[in-house]
Amino acid sequence: MRPTALFVLLLTLFVLGCSTGPDEQAMATEPGDPGTEVDESDLIRSYDQIPIAPAEPTVVHTDEEWREILSGDQYHILRDHGTEPPYSGELLDNDQPGVYRCAGCDHALFSSQSKYDSGTGWPSYYEPIDDDAVGTAEDHSLGTFRVEVHCGQCAGHLGHVFPDGPAPTGLRYCINSLAMTFDAED
Ligand SMILES: [Zn+2]
Repeated sequence: MRPTALFVLLLTLFVLGCSTGPDEQAMATEPGDPGTEVDESDLIRSYDQIPIAPAEPTVVHTDEEWREILSGDQYHILRDHGTEPPYSGELLDNDQPGVYRCAGCDHALFSSQSKYDSGTGWPSYYEPIDDDAVGTAEDHSLGTFRVEVHCGQCAGHLGHVFPDGPAPTGLRYCINSLAMTFDAED
């Protein structure tokens, strides 16, 4: 297979994979109190309900500095909007309690409490750890509309957010494992 054809195939697999909603098994194990009734109308279910709020980076480095700070793979994701292959990330199946941080600037992004198995092959969360954790931006690449998620402190690319997540938000933050580090709770 020619390199170009392989690239297009991988790209297609990514778009399909990350655009696929949670499977039924994932829905059955959705987080939250199983005794709480969820009103479907409270959940975000369309892209126009996702706020677009780009972060103003407070940690800024030159391109040369980022290349020194990050590994080649991390640079590809965080600074070049790359995507790791599905099911490749070390943090995908991590179920320890703790905090997921930006691999570029150590900013706290997601709590283990909001992590769930979306069945897509990327670490998934239903909400960021706080209001300043991440920023969002419109992404019209690959001929589709998506909402890009980036670090609230250094604006490094993390992944995308989709309106097909579980309660209590209805959101699915689909995040590259390589863009994060994990701080286990003591
Ligand atoms: Zn960052």
